[in-house]
Amino acid sequence: MSTRELRQLGIDQTTLELYRDYGSLQAVRQGWHCSPRLPDVIRLAWRLGGPLACVSALDLHQAKEAGIAISAVSVPQPLHIVVPANTPRTPRPALIARRWGIAMPCNPVIHWSTADYLSGDRQAVSRAVALRQADHCSALRD
Ligand SMILES: [Zn+2]
Repeated sequence: MSTRELRQLGIDQTTLELYRDYGSLQAVRQGWHCSPRLPDVIRLAWRLGGPLACVSALDLHQAKEAGIAISAVSVPQPLHIVVPANTPRTPRPALIARRWGIAMPCNPVIHWSTADYLSGDRQAVSRAVALRQADHCSALRD
C-alpha cells in the first residue's frame, strides 16, 4: 500500500512508524509498504518498479491455480514487471541491492502500460493480460 492509501485509512506518520518498528509493516520502497508476510518475489518486483507481468505473472497465476502457496512459488529472474506508462524511470538493480542489503537482482524486463498495470491486483497483472504480454514480449524473442 502507498503511504497515501494508509493516510486515507487514518494511519498517521507516528502510527506508521510504530507499525514499522514492531514489524507489522515493512517498507518496500519510498512511499510504499507491505505486510512482512509478502513473498520475496513480490517485494522484489515492487522494489524494481511494480507488480509481476508477462511470464512472471503467469508463473504466479499457475502456482495459485495449482494451490501452491505464493511464498513457495519459484519465479525465475529476470522478473517481468509492469509499471504505469508515465513512470519516469525505474530504480537500478545495483541501487536496490545496496539499499535493501539483498543479492543483486537481474535487470527486470519492464512492460510500460497503465492499462496492464491496472488489470490485476497488487501482486500481478491479470492472467489474460499476462498471456497477451507473453505473446508479444520482445525479451522472449530471439
Ligand atoms: Zn515480458
